Amino acid sequence: MSDSPKPLLHADRRSFLITSTKAALAIGAGSVMGSSLLTACGSSKPAGGGGDFRTPFTQQPLPYAYNALEPFIDARTMEIHYTKHAAGYASNLDAAVKAENAPTDAGVEALLGKISKYSEKMRNNAGGHYNHELFWQSMKAKGEGRPEGALAAAIETQFKSFGDFKLQFADAAKTRFGSGWAWLLVDSNKKLQISSTPNQDNPLMDVAAVKGTPLLGLDVWEHAYYLKYQNKRADYIDAWWNLVNWSFVQDRYTLCLR
Ligand code: MN
Repeated sequence: MSDSPKPLLHADRRSFLITSTKAALAIGAGSVMGSSLLTACGSSKPAGGGGDFRTPFTQQPLPYAYNALEPFIDARTMEIHYTKHAAGYASNLDAAVKAENAPTDAGVEALLGKISKYSEKMRNNAGGHYNHELFWQSMKAKGEGRPEGALAAAIETQFKSFGDFKLQFADAAKTRFGSGWAWLLVDSNKKLQISSTPNQDNPLMDVAAVKGTPLLGLDVWEHAYYLKYQNKRADYIDAWWNLVNWSFVQDRYTLCLR
């Protein structure tokens, strides 16, 4: 019930990833970094032993306090979302993995790529767990407002301008009927795409209509916004732009390009 900060283990890990990724890029050792993500991005680089971007099957600590995203996302929503909804996906995923004897050594990403071989329970909970782990990291208390560098350039090439991109992304989020997610992803041609998926599906799944590696995802389930915004999903989407952790998104994009 408290708003006290959670342990910053995830943030520490994040800093380590950024540092080590930059180090790897500097010495040309990219093939051992982020191998799962690179594979999903269609890279010809062989999968190495790093696996740093392989999402663990267990719920990781929230990288900020429940109230850190106020006033855009309220503390109560964050607490329920993280401790009930997202925790539930992680625990149900664990049960499904055991029941269906699914491999866990290659990260959740590898499982999602073959999700059609598994049960509906696996699909919902592997997707739910992965999506939320990405969602928490893709936000921070003071977002940068917009991307920079190669990602900004690619967004302008692909969508004409950052403003046009925001409109298209928000439209995907607003028009997703019922529960689901909006995505910015890199497809197998390394092109940026916007899509949306129902329920807890995502672009990594072999069943997705638009496949690729998610760079950024927005949860538009009512549980993500209803306490503060009620039926006004569009207001939640407008507010959420203030929270986007663009440096995190850019790091993912950089890895996908290699
Ligand atoms: Mn959610």
